[in-house]
Amino acid sequence: MHDTRPVTLSVSEIHKSFGALEVLKGISIQANKGDVISILGASGSGKSTLLRCINLLETPDSGVVSVGGETIEMKRHARGHQLAANPKQIERLRSRLGMVFQSFNLWSHMTVLQNVIEGPHYVLKRNKRECIEQAEKLLDRVGLLNRKDFYPAQLSGGQQQRVAIARALAMDPEVMLFDEPTSALDPELVGEVLKVMRSLAEEGRTMLVVTHELGFARHVSNRVVFMHQGNIDCEGAPDDLFGAQGSARFKQFISSHH
Ligand code: ADP
Ligand code: MG
Repeated sequence: MHDTRPVTLSVSEIHKSFGALEVLKGISIQANKGDVISILGASGSGKSTLLRCINLLETPDSGVVSVGGETIEMKRHARGHQLAANPKQIERLRSRLGMVFQSFNLWSHMTVLQNVIEGPHYVLKRNKRECIEQAEKLLDRVGLLNRKDFYPAQLSGGQQQRVAIARALAMDPEVMLFDEPTSALDPELVGEVLKVMRSLAEEGRTMLVVTHELGFARHVSNRVVFMHQGNIDCEGAPDDLFGAQGSARFKQFISSHH
């Protein structure tokens, strides 16, 4: 069937080396609006570098990144690498992406509410009262409205990560990027974060999720990408990939994660 949903995120032929180490060997991924793509792969396969290249925290050596129509093409120049984009363009592209890290990265000297309004109010210069209203809605969504005046240190890891998700959502991103959002959590706190991520998926958010949670990959995402040593080893619908179509390497990977 022809997919009529607009392409929200497209990365093509991303290459990235650190010195002699080629970490990304030409990665291409396209997400239509509402796609939830899980990125799996062994440690060191390049998953974090890929996300960092998408939001240009790392500058790819070459490739194209496009989010919601904002396109930036990187080319390898004869003398070193040069980003063929101006800072304003990078800023626009970044503003369309929400990023959630393994380590939460909340501002420790700010309350929960201040963390969530910081971006929309102080960066986007939106009206403070509206930002607070929006922040309270988002905190309610992630089940933390009653913690809005707490400081991060007074919260559990799972609560901090839910605040980090609310903070990213407050910027109205077109795509949410998650880099192992539950890997730093005690096992009993993983579920509450996955539940919030599942609700985002169900409301049609476009998401790229690096994760080791095979249950999430299989039952929440609609596409799985398996990386191996800087390449996409195999990809597809979860049922196909976890069924007959996964590569031998993928089967090996999932059996070692059970
Ligand atoms: P993953 O997230 O899949 O575990 P990463 O993208 O973090 O993998 O890392 C892929 C490879 O790139 C690893 O070998 C890592 O050591 C290397 N690497 C990542 N970032 C840097 C960097 N800033 N400088 C040098 N090597 C790096
Ligand atoms: Mg990583």
